[in-house]
This record gives sequence, structure tokens and C-alpha cells, in this order.
Amino acid sequence: MAQEVRGVIAKAKGEPVTVETIVIPDPGPGEAVVKIQACGVCHTDLHYREGGINDEFPFLLGHEAAGLVESVGPDVTDVAPGDYVILNWRAVCGTCRSCQKGKSQYCFNTHNATQKMTLTDGTELSAALGIGAFCEKTLVAAGQCTKVNPEAKPEVAGLLGCGVMAGIGAAINTGEVGRGDSVAVFGCGGVGDGAIEGARVAGASTIIAVDLDDQKLEWAKQFGATHTINAGKEDAVEKIREYTGGNGADVVIEAIGLPQVYEQAFYARDLAGTVVLVGVPNPEMKIELPFIDVFGRGGALKSSWYGDCLPSRDFPMLIDLYLQGRLNLDGFVSETISLDDVEAAFHKMEEGGVLRSVVVL
Ligand SMILES: [Zn+2]
Ligand SMILES: [Zn+2]
Repeated sequence: MAQEVRGVIAKAKGEPVTVETIVIPDPGPGEAVVKIQACGVCHTDLHYREGGINDEFPFLLGHEAAGLVESVGPDVTDVAPGDYVILNWRAVCGTCRSCQKGKSQYCFNTHNATQKMTLTDGTELSAALGIGAFCEKTLVAAGQCTKVNPEAKPEVAGLLGCGVMAGIGAAINTGEVGRGDSVAVFGCGGVGDGAIEGARVAGASTIIAVDLDDQKLEWAKQFGATHTINAGKEDAVEKIREYTGGNGADVVIEAIGLPQVYEQAFYARDLAGTVVLVGVPNPEMKIELPFIDVFGRGGALKSSWYGDCLPSRDFPMLIDLYLQGRLNLDGFVSETISLDDVEAAFHKMEEGGVLRSVVVL
């Protein structure tokens, strides 16, 4: 029988979010209902509220979540009620041309639940990134549930569901950072600090954090930054060259998504180095670079979607590293809040005072 629970809704562009009663259908074939235990507040939720993603209001926000599977559809065998899971937005299809090539991390046909969650008047909701986890329970595709070791606290585990995974993966999967590499990261929010953490775990020996906010640069040190640059006060490209023997970094990660920052990232890397774009640009932005430099500097210009992660491979591995004390995930949790505090958390995010506010249910 359908259930009624509380969830955070963005009703119209730019309007403050509200907590409403949400109707969750029973899981159909291929679906699961998950009881949410924690969900981080990500910039993407704010972008949805501002109409920056699409116009399919109302949105059920929240997508960086961990919880317990409550019930599954008739044909679901991968997860069962009681399983502790992180929700992902890359439930791979297994049959598209990328999956068939064995590169499921690029799957072009990922799954979400087929049924819709609704308001009590029947209005259908668009779940943020097909998840919608600022909610006591949510309906997802069973493939969006990735089982991990239940010893990891939900407020920490959930963060791997989006931003922190995007950052770690940008370094480990896309940038292929290796032992002894030099890495520079532009932008030290949740994604950028994830990239710093990923670079540290991968064995980078020089990790340079770049931001405009001294507080954020302090946080970056906790995750493993060996050098910091305030790009408002210093020339970031020049300083990165200085910290890397005059050469530039082997891997430069752009975690902001601005053309002027990308250009700095492009010139801050060593010859034959790699630039990874994990920050998300808006549709109006354009970049202009001397074409001869694109050719002449060699190397690779890559984009990283969700850290090129494969949830079934990466989530359990990263949770194991966390439980062994080898991955700092605790440092990302600035505060834990309730469902009623999401709007206030958006304001704190805009002011830059937090890394992650995490709703705990
Ligand atoms: Zn696929
Ligand atoms: Zn996110």
C-alpha cells in the first residue's frame, strides 16, 4: 500500500523549499523503497530550486543519501529489505554500447524508478537526479542501491552518493593520479576537497589547493593539500609552477566550472599533463584557447561525470578505506540538520560557511 511521508519540495523557481507530505508507491518491478537515514545538501539541489537544471517543477530534492532498503519489487534480487545502501545516480543498464564495451561507468542508459512519487493531490514529483532523498523514504530503481558495510555512519556514507565521489573519482578514475604525481585542484568545496582526498589516497606527493577563500584553503589542508594558493591574492598559474619545480602539475582538476578558471587549469599543468573538468559549466559559457597550445602542450583534456565512478566497484571500496582510517570522510560533514533546515542550509552554502550540511533522519 502506498505510504505517506515527509519530504522537501521545490515548488517553483527561486521559491524557498517547503516540507510536504509525499506519497510513496509500493515498489514495482525493478524498484525499491529505501528508508533514508541521512542525505547531504549539494549545490545541485540548489540549482534545481533555481530552475538551473530544468523546469520540471515540483522537485523532490536530495540525492546524496544512505539508508536501509525497506521493500523491493517482485523481480529484484540484487538487494533485499534490511540492506544498508548508498543511493547512486548511475544504475547501469548492462546493454548499451558503452556497457557492452565493458565501460559501464559511462553507461548511456542509466535507470531510475518507473513510477512517480506524488503530492497528496496526485501532482507528480521530479526526483532530484532520480533519487529525491530529503524525504523519510524514497522510491528508486533497485540498481540505484549500492550495498556497503553498515559500520559506516549514514551521514558520512551518503556523501559518496554524489559530490565527494565526483571529486575522488576525478582524481583517481579520470585523472588517473598515481604515486609521486603533482596535482593541483581549483575550487575547494565538497567536490574539490574530494579530489584532494582522492589525490592523497592515490599517492600524489604534491597537492596544491586553489581557492579565493582562506577558510576553504584551511579545510583543504585537512584533506591532504600540501600547498595552498589564494587566487585572489596570488597568480595561481605562476605559484603552481613554482611549487612544481617550474613545470606545472601532472594533473590539474577544475572543480568550479568557469571558463577563466579552466584556462588557468590548462596553463597550470605540465607538458603532456592532464586537465580534468569536474565543475559544471552553464550552457552559455564558452572557452577560447590558442589552438596551437592545445596541440603543442600535448596531454589530455578530460571531463569527469560523477567521477567516472562505477558505484558497485567504488562505493564499497571507499567505505572500506574509510573504516580502515585511510580515507577522511568525516571532515566533509560540517553539521547535521533536520528536514526542516534545508532552506537554511542553502543559505549557509551560498555564504560559503559549510562544506556539507547533512540531513539526518
Ligand atoms: Zn549501459
Ligand atoms: Zn550532488
